Amino acid sequence: MARKLAAGNWKMNGTRCALDELSALAKAHPDPSVDILICPPATLIRTAASLVDGGPLLIGGQDCHSQVSGAHTGDISADMLADAGATHVILGHSERREDHGESSDDVNAKARAAHASGLVAIVCVGESLAQREASNTLDIIGGQLASSLPDGCTAANTVIAYEPIWAIGTGKVPSTAQIDEVHDFIRARMIRRFGQAEGAAIPLLYGGSVKPDNAAEIFATDNVDGALVGGASLKAADFSPIIKALEGTV
Ligand code: PEP
Repeated sequence: MARKLAAGNWKMNGTRCALDELSALAKAHPDPSVDILICPPATLIRTAASLVDGGPLLIGGQDCHSQVSGAHTGDISADMLADAGATHVILGHSERREDHGESSDDVNAKARAAHASGLVAIVCVGESLAQREASNTLDIIGGQLASSLPDGCTAANTVIAYEPIWAIGTGKVPSTAQIDEVHDFIRARMIRRFGQAEGAAIPLLYGGSVKPDNAAEIFATDNVDGALVGGASLKAADFSPIIKALEGTV
């Protein structure tokens, strides 16, 4: 079984002074029993990776291009992220799918690039409120998984993040029964596609308004191996209790 993972997505937040939060997090968790990952803006990755070097904290990117190099102004390749010290990259976040028109095929190509560069791909899937209300959640998630994941996914190179779009940054959280239903479904799909050993071990994160006061209940749900956290990962004082709640399940 892969280690559980508390992943923070800083999105487009943070200049160099935000790295004080990273130092505070490293100090608060010198020997964590779960993996702790922070995905800062690209401008901070190299400095953040140097800062946590030798310690248990991991640094990731928030997106990568599917090509290794070339005429793609403003983009970053998976090789560049790895070279800067990243170990993971978030792919197919709903904000990328919506703001940048990324399709699941695009995410698939990016995941292949991430794997080729030795990065762990954190592939995000999730339904909109309209899709949930139309009872299409599992169809949507099943389709996104089938198209976004390349062949060859293993527990060592892939993490799935289930992030209902309507729960991201809204303070709304699905019931544990709803999380349970989707995570069980994703687990079954992982086993069917990648085999029992890898499919059962690929970490499944929940993401969407995870906070210190709801983390323990979410982490008690079957097949929830951690969280992808946005707003509450920006301050060590908020992220630390979430990490501790996850450690409480180990
Ligand atoms: C996210 O952006 O992946 C996320 C889960 O954000 P928040 O925790 O702020 O809802």
